[in-house]
Amino acid sequence: MAKRLILMGPPGGGKGTQAKRLQERYGIPQLSTGDMLRAAVKAGTPIGKQAKAVMDAGQLVSDDIMIGLIDERLDQADCKAGFILDGFPRTIPQAEALDKLLASKNMKLDSVIEVQVPDAKLVERITGRFTCSTCGEGYHDTFKQPKKAGLCDVCGGTTFSRRADDNAETVAARLAAYHAQTAPLLPYYEGKGLLHVVDGDRDMDVVTADLEAI
Ligand code: ADP
Ligand code: ADP
Ligand code: ZN
Repeated sequence: MAKRLILMGPPGGGKGTQAKRLQERYGIPQLSTGDMLRAAVKAGTPIGKQAKAVMDAGQLVSDDIMIGLIDERLDQADCKAGFILDGFPRTIPQAEALDKLLASKNMKLDSVIEVQVPDAKLVERITGRFTCSTCGEGYHDTFKQPKKAGLCDVCGGTTFSRRADDNAETVAARLAAYHAQTAPLLPYYEGKGLLHVVDGDRDMDVVTADLEAI
């Protein structure tokens, strides 16, 4: 049976961390629209050029661009057995477009999981975040340091990077965008009987166990 999930939650809530674990566990891909956009910015594609300033300001990239990206991505072979959407949809128009896209591809959503973390915790989560440049494994200055300093636990890589938008000023704009534009999706999916809520303000492994149970 295919597994089709949406992981929702505020910036820094742990979506990427958990999506990577579910990807490993169930063999279904993490579809992170933030990662797709950052790759486009790095490659200097037309979408990347359009998105960069918007991302740096902590605002949302246009629905048209995002829907186009996801439409193409869902057609790739690795999505046949399911997928974990991480960071999409982020607006009601995106959610409505996703419903149409999935219907046209004969796919059905199984669940939408909200990882809840209070705003007060998110600034520290985000400003301490860094990533292995080689394999993308996520780390945190306080909550998840590499076992050996300077060396990635997963791939042994020695270069790490921090996101341009992971600074205290941009975080405020991203949180505001989350509450104004993305939070309305929670009642949208609750109304469809798809929503599950998980307390994300706990140890990463405990959160993972709850997600696996769902
Ligand atoms: P998101 O994808 O929702 O923006 P991330 O998964 O990148 O969030 O997590 C943000 C930061 O917080 C990362 O540095 C990550 O290592 C850390 N983190 C994730 N989950 C937890 C947790 N349960 N407790 C403490 N820190 C966490
Ligand atoms: P977060 O850690 O805040 O959850 P993401 O990596 O998901 O961050 O997204 C980073 C930035 O990319 C967002 O602040 C936004 O500018 C843009 N972005 C990602 N996904 C979307 C989307 N579905 N719609 C609009 N903008 C998006
Ligand atoms: Zn690595």
